[in-house]
Amino acid sequence: MKKTDYDLIIVGGGMVGASLAFALKTSSLKIAIIEAFNLKTNQQPSYDDRGIALSYGSQSIFETMGLWSQLAPHSTAINDIHISDRGHFGATRLSARAENVPALGQVILARAMGQVLNQAIAAHEALDIICPSTVTAVEQQDNAVELTLNNERHLTAKLIVAADGANSTIRKLLGLSVTEQTYQQTAITANINTERPHLNRAYERFTEHGPIALLPMPDQRCSLIWTVKSGDEITINKLDDKAFLKQLQSEFGYRLGKFTQVGKRGHFPLKLTQTDRPIQDRIVFIGNAAHNLHPIAGQGFNLGLRDVIALADVLVNEVNDCGKAQLLHDYQNWQQSDQDSVIKATDILVRLFSNDNSILGHGRSASLIMLDLLPPAKHWLAQKSMGLGKRQPRLARGISI
Ligand SMILES: Cc1cc2nc3c(=O)[nH]c(=O)nc-3n(C[C@H](O)[C@H](O)[C@H](O)COP(=O)(O)OP(=O)(O)OC[C@H]3O[C@@H](n4cnc5c(N)ncnc54)[C@H](O)[C@@H]3O)c2cc1C
Repeated sequence: MKKTDYDLIIVGGGMVGASLAFALKTSSLKIAIIEAFNLKTNQQPSYDDRGIALSYGSQSIFETMGLWSQLAPHSTAINDIHISDRGHFGATRLSARAENVPALGQVILARAMGQVLNQAIAAHEALDIICPSTVTAVEQQDNAVELTLNNERHLTAKLIVAADGANSTIRKLLGLSVTEQTYQQTAITANINTERPHLNRAYERFTEHGPIALLPMPDQRCSLIWTVKSGDEITINKLDDKAFLKQLQSEFGYRLGKFTQVGKRGHFPLKLTQTDRPIQDRIVFIGNAAHNLHPIAGQGFNLGLRDVIALADVLVNEVNDCGKAQLLHDYQNWQQSDQDSVIKATDILVRLFSNDNSILGHGRSASLIMLDLLPPAKHWLAQKSMGLGKRQPRLARGISI
C-alpha cells in the first residue's frame, strides 16, 4: 500500500474537529489537523459569546474522554426546562429530579469551550497542528487522498475527515451536492442580565415569529437565542439596549423579572444544510460539515459530538488502513439513524412552533398541556433532549478498547 504522510487528516479545528483529534489521542494513528485560524489565539469564528447547551449525553462523552474536569468550571447546570407558547395556554416542565439525573444538561460559553479544546489538542504531542492554513485542492487517489494547502504544500492521508463547518470547503472542492432548507429566520444572540435569578432553569418560549431560548449562565445572566423573521433582525439590532430589552420583554414576559442589561449582540441566518453523500472514497463529513441544524433544540454540537465518538470508536484500534470502506460504512451504520432522527425532529419543531396559524396554535398548546400531564411522554422528551435513549458507542460507554 502507498505510503502516506498521515493516516488521518482532520480539516477544521472547530468544536467537532478538535474533539475528534482529542478523542483519538490514545490511538496509534498518525494524525494532523488543519485549521484556517490560529488555534493559539482561539480565533475560530464559532468560539464567540453564544451559550452552548450540552446535553447530559454530551457531558458523559466529555467525561469519558477525560475533558469534563476542564470544561466543568466554565459550565452552568440546567436543572429544569420550562417550555411555553406565547399567546396560548399550556406549558411543560422537564426536571432533572424527575429524570433522576444530577442535571439535564450544562451551558458553556462557546469561547470557553474553544479555549479548553485548543489547549487540550495543543498538549497532544503526537498530533500535528497545521494553522493558520486552508485547503485549496483535494484529489482522491488510489488508496489515499492528497490535499493541497494555500502555501502550495501537498499532504497525503489514508482518510480525510471534513469537519470544516456548514460552508465546507472540502464539499465545495469535491463538487458535492447539499440539501438545503431555508427557514427565513435569523437568530439574534446576546447575553442578558435578569432581575430574578434563573435558578438553573432554561426557558424555551415559542412565539409566532420563532422560538426564544434563555439558557442559565453564571452571575444571574442568561444566554439568549431569539429567533426572528429574516429582515426583522436589522430593525431589532438598530434598537438601543433599552428599546431592545423592552421588545424582548414583550415577547418573553416577566418569568425572570425585568431584563436589566444586554451584552454584545450577534445574528445568524438559519437554515438546514445536509451533505447528500457524507461518506466518500476515503473522505467522511462530520459535524456541521455534514448537517447544519436550526438551533431551536440546541442539538447541533451535541449531534456533532456523537458523530465524533462514533467515528473515533471505529478508528481507534485500526493499525493498517483507517480509510478503508468497511470502517466508514460501520461508522455510517452506527450514526445514520441518530442523524436522521435529530434532523427530522428539529425540522418538525421549527415548522410546528414557528407558525401563527391558529389551528396549529391550539394544537401546540394542547400538546404542551398533554405533555405536562403524561409522565411517559415527558420522560421520552427529556431523554431525547438529554441525548439519551440511543445505543452508545463503546468509547462513549467508557469501555476501553
Ligand atoms: C446561535 C447558535 C446557537 C447554538 N446553540 C447550540 C446549543 O445550544 N447546543 C448545541 O449543541 N449546538 C448549538 N449550536 C450549534 C453549534 O454551534 C455547531 O453545531 C458547532 O459549532 C459545529 O461545530 P463544527 O466544528 O462542526 O463547525 P464550526 O464550528 O463551523 O468549525 C469549523 C472549523 O473549520 C474551519 N475551517 C473552515 N474551512 C476550512 C478550511 N478550508 N481549511 C481549514 N479549516 C477550515 C473553521 O475556521 C472552523 O474553525 C448553535 C449554533 C448557533 C448558530
